[in-house]
Amino acid sequence: MDEKELVEKIVKIRKELEFYRDLGVDFLVNQMDSCQPRLSGQTASSQTLILGEIMVSRTGDAQAEWEKLTRQILSCRFCPLYKSRTQAVPGEGNRQARLIFVGEAPGRDEDLQGRPFVGRAGQLLTRIIQAMGFDRQEVYIANVIKCRPPENRTPKPEEVRACSPYLLKQIELIKPKVIVALGKVATEFLLKTDLPMSDLRGNFGEFMGIPVMPTFHPSYLVRNEGNKEIKRMVWEDMKKVMKLLES
Ligand code: SF4
Repeated sequence: MDEKELVEKIVKIRKELEFYRDLGVDFLVNQMDSCQPRLSGQTASSQTLILGEIMVSRTGDAQAEWEKLTRQILSCRFCPLYKSRTQAVPGEGNRQARLIFVGEAPGRDEDLQGRPFVGRAGQLLTRIIQAMGFDRQEVYIANVIKCRPPENRTPKPEEVRACSPYLLKQIELIKPKVIVALGKVATEFLLKTDLPMSDLRGNFGEFMGIPVMPTFHPSYLVRNEGNKEIKRMVWEDMKKVMKLLES
């Protein structure tokens, strides 16, 4: 690609990102100017190009776009989490799902298996999904962060910024009717709020025009196994999701 083509491509990507900014996803445009850290040997322009291509790529061939996205995630080195991962965990499920569950990041089991929500919290999520009347394969399950943070620590804001284009692309390709945000990190990212979960859960917010139901992360339920009140609240939230899906 010569310099003129590169400049034209960057202008096209910036316009696309500005479209997302106008929708309220303004951090994407900020990211173009401040994306850190950079890979060694990578210029700002080349990294901008890669990040932008994740968002802009629209071949009209959904299968090809999914394959490209998955390849990009599995080989990604946009943030330091690639150094400690066994493998990245792109997400799984029905690519035309009406319902997406978005969690925080892979844990140990997910990192080893390359699949989201397969540990104890994942088994609980699977039971919740089944209680809602779905098979796990009927919905889509992903995380904001695609690589396991060391010791399962909370992802840093710069890691969320670096990884978020992948989730945005997944949402754009799936076009779900409802998103369930599992826990604080997913809720903060999707609803741009730092209010406590106890204030947010049970009420729909919105992300890119899609209703988002924030609720407690399944790992919180696992940690509070004997607390029936938390389970009841999560189920109340899921009933609202089911009602919206039926409407
Ligand atoms: S966490 Fe996301 S941005 Fe960081 S290396 Fe993994 S896939 Fe890339």
